[in-house]
Amino acid sequence: MHVDETLIRSVVEQVLTRLGGNGNGAASGNYQGRFGLFTDVGQAVAAAREAFERLSRRTLAERKQIVAHIRRISADQRVELGTMEMEETKIGRLQHKIDKLIGAASVPGVEFLHSEVFSGDHGLSVIEHAPFGVICAITPVTHSLPTIACNAISMISAGNTVVVNPHPSGRRVAAEGVRRFNEAIYRDLGIDNLLCVITEPTIETADALFKHRDINLIAVTGGQAVARAAMQQPKRAIVAGPGNPPVVVDETADLDRAARSIIAGAAYDNNLLCISEKEVFVVEQVFDALMAAMDRAGAVRLNAHEVDAFTKVAIASVGEGEHKHDVPARDFLGKDAAVLARGIGKTVPANVELLFGETDESNPFVPVEQMMPFVPFVRARDIDDAIAKAKRAEHGFRHTAMIHSNNVRNMTKMGRAMDTTLFVKNGASMAGLGLGGEGYASFSIATPTGEGVTTPLTFTRERRCTMVDDLRILGK
Ligand code: NAD
Repeated sequence: MHVDETLIRSVVEQVLTRLGGNGNGAASGNYQGRFGLFTDVGQAVAAAREAFERLSRRTLAERKQIVAHIRRISADQRVELGTMEMEETKIGRLQHKIDKLIGAASVPGVEFLHSEVFSGDHGLSVIEHAPFGVICAITPVTHSLPTIACNAISMISAGNTVVVNPHPSGRRVAAEGVRRFNEAIYRDLGIDNLLCVITEPTIETADALFKHRDINLIAVTGGQAVARAAMQQPKRAIVAGPGNPPVVVDETADLDRAARSIIAGAAYDNNLLCISEKEVFVVEQVFDALMAAMDRAGAVRLNAHEVDAFTKVAIASVGEGEHKHDVPARDFLGKDAAVLARGIGKTVPANVELLFGETDESNPFVPVEQMMPFVPFVRARDIDDAIAKAKRAEHGFRHTAMIHSNNVRNMTKMGRAMDTTLFVKNGASMAGLGLGGEGYASFSIATPTGEGVTTPLTFTRERRCTMVDDLRILGK
């Protein structure tokens, strides 16, 4: 007789839950059928803890099945979910909202896990990668559901469960995505709440999650304030912080290729990506030629007067005293190039992807992470001057930098000076995440805490198991 073990286990777990226990002796609420939606932080963490205990008893094959549901829903329902994200957040570009869900679906999963071994005279030691437990994930408005899907695949592949505090302006699509993932997993494998979401997220709910004793690890994707808040907690935090990626173009570059790459990267989702090209430093010798190449490639140049006018409306000042700083103006953040142009009374065709213009280093568009499709181009005396300016603009975030050059020494010099997590040569920024370059993707690039492009292994603890004097099958 064929026995469906998964089904039996699921029925047993459901009975145990109804009886008020999770099979491990710990008290639990009945959170099955909630599909991960919670307003209460305590309940969300309890449900995710219960789900963690259940997941720990499942096989790796079942973990792959769970992750396959998240991949399938993200990919198959991308148009509906991407449209929902666009309508809710009102920033970025619809096609890219849709494409990013495909990107999220393709990040590394269970197959990425591996063990290491030391084999020698004294036997065998194996290092395995174990889950942390329940992870608190904070996600940005710039890619709400893609970050959640990506984090879920990485974290659950590693055997963890997750409670997400999404950005309030992307909370509805976050909740809908989480509900769909959980419902599919529950119906197939009888396990719910592997991924929980706070449906009315606030800074207070984020803080309560950070401090909850049953949260084993914090994983934050966002700007400076949340990065700082996470790193101040007395528990491990993996922080994917802000960037302000500079581009350097030297006299040996293929200028048409550089222009096409800058447009592709800087205009993607209207410059919302943390890796997107944010300012360009060009050696004097080819400055005018690169500007002409940008024109040819379809970007629209603003003249000096237009740049000044646009800077006045698109950069705002916030904070008081020593905390006063420039930020992108809300009306323009993530909006189309045509909307930006309209802000200064200029009309450009709706299909224009990027505006650009010459500025000097002191223009606020250089230091500010603008997240809108206008990029400042700054003249540099030579490669050393360009790299020095790029270094200042990056603020020591050590996030992402680009160079367009055919001089390997200049590439090396910039790579060493910038010390960034991603360094892309002769391509668009996305190439650093496997889109048009080699390697894999993630929506969380851990920068200040140093884990880099996150994978399932990022969310694991090392455990070593040693057998003394035996199990090495080789002779002396
Ligand atoms: P944000 O910093 O405004 O918000 C990010 C998340 O943090 C949101 O969920 C928000 O509610 C929460 N938050 C903000 N302040 C907080 C605090 N003090 N305590 C607890 N939670 C807090 O950023 P955003 O506008 O949503 O996203 C854009 C930013 O995120 C950019 O700076 C971008 O570079 C960065 N980002 C980085 C990566 C990366 O992989 N390194 C990826 C995406 C975005």
